[in-house]
Amino acid sequence: MNILLFGPNGSGNGTQGSLLKENYNLAHIESGAIFREHIGKGTALGKKAKEYMDRGDLVPDDITIPMVLETLKEKGENGWLLDGFPRNMVQAEKLWDALQKAGMKLDYVVEIQLPRKAAKDRIMGRRLCVADNNHPNNIHIDAIAPKGETCRVCGGALTARADDQNEDAINKRHDIYYDDKNGTLAAAYFYKNLAAKGLTRYIELDGQGDIASVKEALIRKLR
Ligand code: AMP
Repeated sequence: MNILLFGPNGSGNGTQGSLLKENYNLAHIESGAIFREHIGKGTALGKKAKEYMDRGDLVPDDITIPMVLETLKEKGENGWLLDGFPRNMVQAEKLWDALQKAGMKLDYVVEIQLPRKAAKDRIMGRRLCVADNNHPNNIHIDAIAPKGETCRVCGGALTARADDQNEDAINKRHDIYYDDKNGTLAAAYFYKNLAAKGLTRYIELDGQGDIASVKEALIRKLR
């Protein structure tokens, strides 16, 4: 199964992506993670990408597109979940062309929908437990609200990730995501139009529920 996943930062796309990957045994290809890997290894590509990433800008298409298409070819033979790409119209068109050329089917396109204000609140509300990063705490999500100032799971102290509190960077990323003319929503709607012609299937998912209920809705719609 080959799936494209769209969702604004803060919509739970990372979490849902990991769950999909495990459920269907897919290669999870995340453009952001590939860039971070390059940065970690200190490659030339990583150095170039970092300056754009630090500002919350998109890395230029001439770097991003070949890198993602190459990874898809290398790792995507037995089904893939592409996450974080495409993020604009050019990427959307180039990906579709590449899939056609490779004779690869696009089974599903999933769009997790969340209003911009809610997405921003979720990012800024995230708190990290010093005892365990996996303990879920978010001051803006009732179901996982911390206990006062402390971790809801273990009572440990909480901190916030610096980049989660960088409002300018969050706004910039959301400007790109919610742009339905040239940005990421435009890319998503490009595939929605293809679905209207029967060339793929487009699933819209309400991202406002908790992790388990969003996952359940997603799996139901994939059947
Ligand atoms: P992410 O982890 O998906 O939030 O991506 C982190 C950063 O990597 C983004 O803010 C961009 O700077 C860069 N990036 C990831 N995917 C793309 C893409 N498809 N096109 C351009 N830049 C990207």
